[in-house]
Amino acid sequence: MSDDELQIRHSIVHACRRMEPLGLSHGTSGNISVRCGDKLLITPSGVPYDTLSSDGIVSMDFDGGWQGELAPSSEWRFHLDIMQTRPDVNAVVHGHPLYATSLAICRRDIPAVHYMIAAAGGATIRCAEYATFGTQALSVNVLKAMQERNCCLLANHGMIATGANLERAIRLASELENLAHQYVISLTIGNPCILSDTEIEKNIALFENYGPKRMPND
Ligand code: 13P
Ligand code: ZN
Repeated sequence: MSDDELQIRHSIVHACRRMEPLGLSHGTSGNISVRCGDKLLITPSGVPYDTLSSDGIVSMDFDGGWQGELAPSSEWRFHLDIMQTRPDVNAVVHGHPLYATSLAICRRDIPAVHYMIAAAGGATIRCAEYATFGTQALSVNVLKAMQERNCCLLANHGMIATGANLERAIRLASELENLAHQYVISLTIGNPCILSDTEIEKNIALFENYGPKRMPND
């Protein structure tokens, strides 16, 4: 096994252990995958994160074949299909966080209630139509909801967040849950104001240049 693959396996285990403290999942719900060359490394199905070790991570080919002692996540289809159709995505995080899932149960998209929705890549976070977990039908619905977006909700199920790397996918998953929480609270207060598409476009452009900056030496 290459050093790269070993390092990715360790990073997946570390990310899995952050899922529960970040409120992204509990029990054995949720799964994570990371691209590794021409393969996909993915969490095994049904293994509690606190007992997961790097040997338990499953290596999958893009044709659906896999190597490992344990079977891959039951959701391998949407992980594989996202990676195959989105060359910009190198990590996929799926979970059942409380507020995002509650909105998904009501089958609501999240509108532009806060400028941070720009992190999703557009002015809404769509809710994918319902299909049974682990099915190709769910994967088809996910790809549709994720058009021009980095994340989506899954009706009566949970959410998916993606990123150029695993850290970014985890951060987006956490941001999505925060937005869902804000939206649910604002709905209980009543009549949340929604930002315009133009305002969100402006924020998407600003995000491209957002981050810590050093003062130039003079
Ligand atoms: P796995 O344990 O098979 O990854 O399934 C968890 C899940 O969240 C299914 O949607
Ligand atoms: Zn799930």
